[in-house]
Order: sequence, then C-alpha cells, then structure tokens
Amino acid sequence: MAVTGLRIGVVGGSIAGCAMAVAGARAGADVTVHERSDGDLQDRGFGIVIPPPLHRELVDGGYLGADMPTIPVATRVWLARAPGRRSARELARQQAPVAPCNWGLLWRALRANAGGCTYHRGHPVASVGRTASGGAVIRSAEGEREYDLVVGADGHRSVTRELLAPGVRPVPAGYLVWRGTIPSSALRDHPKQLELLESAWVTLGFPGGHGVFYLIPGAATGSRLLAYAIYASPPAEAHAVHASPPAADAATGTAPVAPVRAAYVRHIAEEHFPAEWADIVARGEHSSQALHPVADFVVPRAVEPPFLLAGDAASVTRPHTASGAVKALQDALCLERSLRASASAAEALHRYADERSAEGARLVGLGRRLGRAFVENAPDWPAMGPAEVEALSRAALDGDASYLYGSVQRQG
Ligand SMILES: Cc1cc2nc3c(=O)[nH]c(=O)nc-3n(C[C@H](O)[C@H](O)[C@H](O)COP(=O)(O)OP(=O)(O)OC[C@H]3O[C@@H](n4cnc5c(N)ncnc54)[C@H](O)[C@@H]3O)c2cc1C
Repeated sequence: MAVTGLRIGVVGGSIAGCAMAVAGARAGADVTVHERSDGDLQDRGFGIVIPPPLHRELVDGGYLGADMPTIPVATRVWLARAPGRRSARELARQQAPVAPCNWGLLWRALRANAGGCTYHRGHPVASVGRTASGGAVIRSAEGEREYDLVVGADGHRSVTRELLAPGVRPVPAGYLVWRGTIPSSALRDHPKQLELLESAWVTLGFPGGHGVFYLIPGAATGSRLLAYAIYASPPAEAHAVHASPPAADAATGTAPVAPVRAAYVRHIAEEHFPAEWADIVARGEHSSQALHPVADFVVPRAVEPPFLLAGDAASVTRPHTASGAVKALQDALCLERSLRASASAAEALHRYADERSAEGARLVGLGRRLGRAFVENAPDWPAMGPAEVEALSRAALDGDASYLYGSVQRQG
C-alpha cells in the first residue's frame, strides 16, 4: 500500500535536502532538488557527530556509502584545568560512542546517493504556494513548477516555513559557539592529547562555558582534522562585531570569520585551558571557522499537506544535542518509511508529522536544559569528579536520553 510515483520538489540541497531526495527516490518518487547555492557545499569542512547505530542504518539503507570515512570513538572524557596549575585534570569518563564525520564528506556521500534525482544548483526559490487542485508550486526566476509534495529543506531561514508557520522566530540563548577545524598537525607536539583523541572525544570545562573536541576525517584520503565547538558568552569585541554583522554565508546562514573572533577563541584557550590544549588551539591555522549566536526554535507541526519541513527548516536545537544533521537524516528515514506505509501523500505526511514534530520539540527542550547546565550556569568544573558529572548530566537530561551522555565509568 505504498504511495509511489509522486513528484516531489525539495527546496534546499544540503544535508536535509539530499537525504530527503534519497528517501523520496527510494520510495519510488520522482524528485527534483532546488539548491540556491552554486558553490561546492562540500567545502564547509566542519565536524558532525552521529550515533553509530544511525550511521549503520544509513549505510544499510543506501543513504551513505560504506566508504564514507568516520573516526568512531566509544568514550567521552571530561577535563578541566587543575586548580592553581596549567595542567589538565580528568574529571570523568562516560561510555558514549559516536561516529564523528566531516560535514562536507557527509554531504558528498548523500549527494552521490541522490544521483537518480534532478539536482538544480544556483536555483534560489523565491516562494512556494498551492495550486487550485491541491498540489504545490515552487516559484523561482526560471518560472513555476508543480509538484504533488514539496519538502522545505531550506535551513533555518526557510521560505517554506514562512508559509507553514510564519510566526516562528529563533529564540536566542544569549551565548555563542565558535565552531571550526584545526589541522591535526597542531597535535604533532602533543602525543598524549593525540592519543586521548584517538580513543575519546573530549569535553573541556572552563569558567562560563566549555569546549568539545574530536577528530574527524579530512577531505584528503587518510587525513584528519581536529574539530571543535567552544561555547562561551560574547566578549566585548564580539559585541562590536555583532552591532554591524558582516554578510551571512549564503549557503549556511553563518557569519564569516572576522579576525577578532579567531583571536577570541585563542584568548579563551590561553586564559582557561590546560597549557597543552591552549597551545593546540593557538597553533591551529583554523582551516575552517564560524561563529554562531546560539538560538533555537521549533514549528508546532512539521507538515501542512502538500508541504513538509525537514532538518533545520523544521527546528533548530542548541548544538549541545549534536542532533541537527542527525535529525535531518532521521527525518529522511521517516519520510521513506511513511511513504512506503501509506496509501496517499497526505497520509504519509501526517505519519511523518506525528513522529518528527514531537522529536523536534523534544530536542529543543533537551538543548535548553544542557545549555543552562553547562554554559549559562556552568559548574565549578575543577571541583567535579565522576559523581558530580554523572549527577549534573542526569539532572540536565531530566529523564530524557541522549547518545552523548552514557553512563559514567568508575575510576579504578
Ligand atoms: C556548533 C555546531 C555543532 C553542530 N554539531 C552537530 C553534530 O555534531 N551533529 C549533528 O547532527 N548536527 C550538528 N550541528 C547541526 C548541523 O550542522 C545542521 O543542523 C545541519 O547541517 C542542517 O542541515 P539542513 O540541510 O537542514 O540545513 P542547511 O545546511 O542550512 O541547508 C539549507 C540549504 O538550503 C538552501 N536554501 C536556503 N534557502 C533557499 C532557497 N530560498 N532556495 C533554494 N535553496 C535554499 C541553502 O543554500 C542550504 O544549502 C551542529 C551545528 C552547530 C552550529
């Protein structure tokens, strides 16, 4: 009783757009993607963490090739600077397996598997609307195209969302995240840190925030990058930059890096990190870096037939959940399941909305609790040990689950 032969139009051809295209094609639809950017999305080069079981499901399901590189690690190590010293102190270890990958390689892998779909790049969509017969229309400079179903996968400033949920606006968290990658050569003189990162991903607490570090594959075969996300309140200089922000990146919506921003990450590291970690951050040429004000939102319902929203267009959670790309990929798996299990497009969309709208709201709530616990009310990190890390993690989860928070291992 699968609904097949649908014409699906997808607005946006990034992670969500390509994954939704693969889902539609696998369920027997004729899919066309309209991507605004005419550049190479694979050059963004940031780190993405996904749960290993989801990675396996995507490979088994034909979304990702088995050759897409990841650098899986099973353990999360919590560190802080030892009081009165410049050395690191290990606070706790959690069993929290992740499969870190490179944003660009993930996009490329999805794009390769969306090969049967039509992918228009350099194709900005001006608006979406309804036809008299209940279909959907995508409007662009090239004219109007009709579809049975339109997927809004056009990111956090989605034009598709403007039709479905025009009042939804991002809620700022009041702090920032510096996100980037450093060539692994910055670890050359720090074999202990490199050894740690080869078996674990690291959370480094400091007053008023924390940083997360993990290795990801580089674009060149066999190469590695150190990916990081550092959460902290804005410095005075960044306020000045915010007062007249530079033009946002057309593809990601993120602000380009101004020198003050890279310098400020180094300043945080110099001020608060254990010496070796400060040195690593100082050495990195920061092959890729962006500054995001942390914010979130969620639409009440991700569907209004014949439209549905996916990925960041439907909801953005604070990055502490490491779930934006994960959610987009799960959205796609859900679309494929829904199309296969439904007799009509409308039925499939309602199945999708029942599952995915609730998930978006859950993740936004989780991200807020994690942000409050680990940034807004950042603990006295050096005073923590395994029991405190466990207790704070459980309190922030508040009965919810996250693949990033496994059980704390007792230190022997
Ligand atoms: C610090 C940080 C760390 C993160 N870490 C993780 C992590 O570990 N794990 C994880 O799962 N996620 C993570 N994320 C989130 C993840 O990067 C995003 O959620 C994900 O990439 C969003 O994909 P998307 O396709 O929905 O949106 P986008 O990547 O924003 O793509 C939207 C696309 O739509 C196109 N577009 C927009 N408007 C139009 C238009 N009018 N016409 C045509 N095309 C249009 C754009 O050009 C773009 O290509 C992190 C995010 C941050 C900020």
